[in-house]
Amino acid sequence: MPRDITFLVIHCSATPNGRWTTSADINLWHHDRGFRRKAEARVGLNPKLDAIGYHQVIYTNGTVATGRGPNEVGAHVAGNNTGSLGICMVGTDRFHAEQWDALRRLVWQLCAQYRIPQAPADPKDPRGLRGVIGHGEIPGVAKSCPGFSVREWLLAGMNPNPQHILQG
Ligand SMILES: [Zn+2]
Repeated sequence: MPRDITFLVIHCSATPNGRWTTSADINLWHHDRGFRRKAEARVGLNPKLDAIGYHQVIYTNGTVATGRGPNEVGAHVAGNNTGSLGICMVGTDRFHAEQWDALRRLVWQLCAQYRIPQAPADPKDPRGLRGVIGHGEIPGVAKSCPGFSVREWLLAGMNPNPQHILQG
C-alpha cells in the first residue's frame, strides 16, 4: 500500500552555498543524530544510506539524488513526517540556477503524482497540511530552513527571488 502523501516539505542542508555535498555526507550527519532507516527499506533503495531522513537531495549542479523511498516515512520534520516527503536543497540561502530548475521540476512531478496542490500549504487547514511548505514555515518550527520563503517562491510561479540565486 502506498502511503498517503499530502504535502512536500522543502529543506536546505545548511552547508556553505555552492559547496559540493552529497547524500552520503548528509547520511553521516543524520546517522550521528541517531536517525535510522528500516533494514527492509534499504534492501530496495540506497542500501548504503542507513540513516538519511530526506527523500530527495538536490545537489549544487542540479542533480536530484534519492534518499529514502517514497513509501518510507522520512525523518526531516518533527511531528509531520507521516504525510510528507522531504526535499533538501544543498546550500543555505543561495542556490545555482540548475538547483532551482531541478526543484521546480521535482515539485511539479511530485504534485502531479500525489495530487498535491502546487500551492503553499495552509497551516490552518483543518484537514491537515496539503501543498508545499518550507520547514521553517510549519507552525512551531523555529528554524530558518530553507534560507528562502517557499511560500513566496510558489506564489511567484516557482521562480526564485534573484537574491537567492548563486552565480558562477
Ligand atoms: Zn529543514
